[in-house]
Amino acid sequence: MADAASSVTVHAGPLKAVVRAIIGRTGSSAREAGLVADQLVEANLTGHDSHGVGMLPRYVEVFRLGRLKVNQHVSVVLDGGALLTLDGNMGYGQVMAYEAMQLGIERAGEYGTAVVGLSNSHHIGRIGHWAEQCIAAGLISMHYVNVISQPVVAPFGGRDARFVTNPFCVGIPRPGEQPIVLDFATSRIAMGKVRVAMNKGVEVGADTLLDHDGEPTRDPRVMFERPFGAILPFGEHKGYCLAVVCELLGGALSGGRTLHQRSPGREIINNMFSILIDPQRLGTAANLSAETAEFATWVKQSPLAQGADRIKLPGEPEQDHRRERGAKGIPIDPTTWAEIVGAAGLLGLKQREVERLAGLG
Ligand code: NAD
Repeated sequence: MADAASSVTVHAGPLKAVVRAIIGRTGSSAREAGLVADQLVEANLTGHDSHGVGMLPRYVEVFRLGRLKVNQHVSVVLDGGALLTLDGNMGYGQVMAYEAMQLGIERAGEYGTAVVGLSNSHHIGRIGHWAEQCIAAGLISMHYVNVISQPVVAPFGGRDARFVTNPFCVGIPRPGEQPIVLDFATSRIAMGKVRVAMNKGVEVGADTLLDHDGEPTRDPRVMFERPFGAILPFGEHKGYCLAVVCELLGGALSGGRTLHQRSPGREIINNMFSILIDPQRLGTAANLSAETAEFATWVKQSPLAQGADRIKLPGEPEQDHRRERGAKGIPIDPTTWAEIVGAAGLLGLKQREVERLAGLG
């Protein structure tokens, strides 16, 4: 049996089998466990370990607290044709966001566009995954997301945390080319990346965190040990303003709620407001495609800044990671692996079985 405290490298297929087995132990259907496994492992494959399998222990914890409901589906609160308001019923976000986008894709097929509000879902993970679902259907999509959880991000000019890492995402398909996928947290770094830094025992960059007194620090532990500190928004006032818009569109226009008190719970509730557009139906698909190609060539011809190896479009770093990790496997740090093995154990899945599924036996 491998030492649970050693770091491991696991290929995507076996890692999905591990996730399916753990999620299956929460009573999920095979479809649900498969959707969760696909999205978490895709996050690792694209280099976003913050939103990959390291989330499993938190999901198991919230499930055991009775706050994450298994085998749920979205409920239609309002069906206005191209406009849909959906409730995620505190089910697995990987199912809720998938079903919400499937409904949106169907409606965009009918009307050329769809506006989808999804509220009250558990964590929907890496938002780019949902943009990629729309891209596969030839659709542009925009996603404004808020998070109901312990506040972790300070407003611009503030000294304590008032909201969460509110991600914003835009997907643009490019026929015959890799799509553009802009997908980031509006905080300086995603909360999961602070966790990854803490688990690796490394500091975060300067100008990223405040301690509980509102003073700058590079120690990731301030986000996990009471009294908590805060992450700064990215891009000074501009990132903060985008976070506010994500809070209001994602949290309120979707039919969900905004964060306006300290949430004591361990659950991570996501609300997402999405706009899907079929460029063919807008009559501008050929123009979009030609102009994107011209623009991409133009920006990539800029002389390289010191330390840069090439100029990338949004989505390219993820494509690079996907190639590399698809071939070499996904590295998982010792703390994260031990936590996953521990979470599996809480559900009666033995370490030996987790290692066998991971191909480490
Ligand atoms: P990040 O800082 O790594 O930024 C990622 C974005 O920047 C991508 O679009 C990427 O293609 C682009 N990018 C990165 N380097 C680039 C370069 N050199 N040139 C061009 N483009 C570049 O992302 P993040 O803020 O750490 O967010 C990580 C993930 O966390 C995202 O997938 C996000 O959706 C997710 N997230 C989810 C939640 C939630 O509650 N569900 C909350 C926050 C973040």
